[in-house]
Amino acid sequence: MIRVIRVYSRLSLCFFLLSVSAFSQTPTVKLRLYSLHHEAHLKITAKTGKLAFKTCGNCLADDVAGLEITSTIHGLRIAGRAHLEDQAFVEGNYLLEPEEGFSLSLNFPLEITTDHGELKILLDVPLEDYVATALAGESGSFKNEESMKAMAVAVRSYAALFKSRHGAAGYDFCDTTHCQTLNFKGISAQVRAAVEATRGEMLWYQGKPAATFYHQNCGGTLAAAAEAWPTMAETYLHQQADPYCVRGPLLPWRAELDRRQLQDALRKQGLTVPEGWSSLEIVSRMPSGRVRKLAFQHPGGTPQLVSGSSLRFAIGRSFGWNQVRSDLYEVQTTADAVIFTGRGAGHGVGLCQAGAEQMAKEGQGYRKILAFYYPGATLGLTAARSLNWEKRASGRFELLSTQLDQDAEALPAAETVLANLESELGWKLEFNPQLKMFPTLDAYRNSTGQPGWIAAFTRGRIISLQPLAVLKEKSILESTLRHEFAHLLIEARAHAGTPLWFREGLTLYFADPRKNIEPVQMTEAEMEKTFQNPGDRKSLEHAYAAARTKVERMVRENGKETVLQWLNSGKHF
Ligand SMILES: [Zn+2]
Ligand SMILES: [Zn+2]
Repeated sequence: MIRVIRVYSRLSLCFFLLSVSAFSQTPTVKLRLYSLHHEAHLKITAKTGKLAFKTCGNCLADDVAGLEITSTIHGLRIAGRAHLEDQAFVEGNYLLEPEEGFSLSLNFPLEITTDHGELKILLDVPLEDYVATALAGESGSFKNEESMKAMAVAVRSYAALFKSRHGAAGYDFCDTTHCQTLNFKGISAQVRAAVEATRGEMLWYQGKPAATFYHQNCGGTLAAAAEAWPTMAETYLHQQADPYCVRGPLLPWRAELDRRQLQDALRKQGLTVPEGWSSLEIVSRMPSGRVRKLAFQHPGGTPQLVSGSSLRFAIGRSFGWNQVRSDLYEVQTTADAVIFTGRGAGHGVGLCQAGAEQMAKEGQGYRKILAFYYPGATLGLTAARSLNWEKRASGRFELLSTQLDQDAEALPAAETVLANLESELGWKLEFNPQLKMFPTLDAYRNSTGQPGWIAAFTRGRIISLQPLAVLKEKSILESTLRHEFAHLLIEARAHAGTPLWFREGLTLYFADPRKNIEPVQMTEAEMEKTFQNPGDRKSLEHAYAAARTKVERMVRENGKETVLQWLNSGKHF
């Protein structure tokens, strides 16, 4: 009979350090404010109470009512201080008044430095506040609750995927359309409600946050990701008709540009426009109907080609972005002008805001909206359900994998490791363990919530493992499996009252009896407390080492057989 396995929920140890950043572990984002402005002077005034102000990370803060900061090429000049400072940190409830940008009332920690003589103003904001601020900046057209909720999920997933896109400059996101437009002043009750109703929810695809692009209006035809970004092949961003936005108010537009001005705008962006050109004509279109290539025709010469995206960029730079609003247009050349007649606005990839709004208006919920615009991506709090697990039974194991053929390579090693361990302990495992191999570190971390330094962990009979390639590269496949199997064997025999430290110590000892470790002393009560509530990595490692030290001594003094018997004899420690 299969023994009932105690639900075993503690981390089992297999530490190694991987420098991966886990979005789920860093619930704040660092924003750069006023990224489009050249701010040189900033006034910060306390709105309530005092501000805590300091000029280095570890110094004590002063209480101040306000501050005036000016950037110089050599550092920050802070009014009332003799020396220039490199940094200023401010916390409290304050009003920010820059020279160029809007003033803002905020209460998030500020970090100010200089960047080529300009102020670099960074803000630490909890993720959900960032989502609210970006939602307020990007959802101006929404009136319905469900479209707002769909956008909240899109904004949050986008943030999770593209976090640290300004990492090299020391922050995560800027406050412009380059990342997501932020609007601190426009956070309405409706925006807050949409963020709250979807708190933590994201779209996932194969263990990673989905690339949830969105745009204002697709004009009835959604573009595949590759139309806008040739290297992207995300299957949930494919070309399809949008029956929704076309049922709402259409967005036709017309732009008439003077021939000479158009030609100057293009040349300013380094594009070749032949002298004496007679007309601009569309040569080819993308599958969604968006313009791919155009040609400047000129009598007696070969046509000069220009891509739709370069043309639109050049026009946007010189005449503003609300002239040629999308690549969905017809073009006509007259004696002195080029006339673009088009529809829609934006790149057309992902969620069409006009269509989402129409779906909500027709009574569809945000899940339906997301499923239409990102077909195949999975909505959830974690990545877990977005992976397509397949199962293969083999010998003593059941392998769960998203790439069975590759991961099956681990099975022979697992068979050998288990057989050796069983013969050393003189016990046999009475059930077939399940090996769950994650395809990527992201998928492992996002699905299990484990940090990158936990190589594997066991719950019940399921052993969740980091990707095979990672374990092999670190040469820890065998040792990790052996450790987890030792856990299974020991847990299967443990008495209900057996303390955790004893189970952990036995596992560590039998997983690697010959290993020499530095002895660590801790009381049984201390160890037990740490295993019940694991804190940081260091204290957990300390407790593991202490548990192993103690079990090793017990084996030395009483013999292996006796110590193993204590496991299920209910011995009182
Ligand atoms: Zn940016
Ligand atoms: Zn649309």
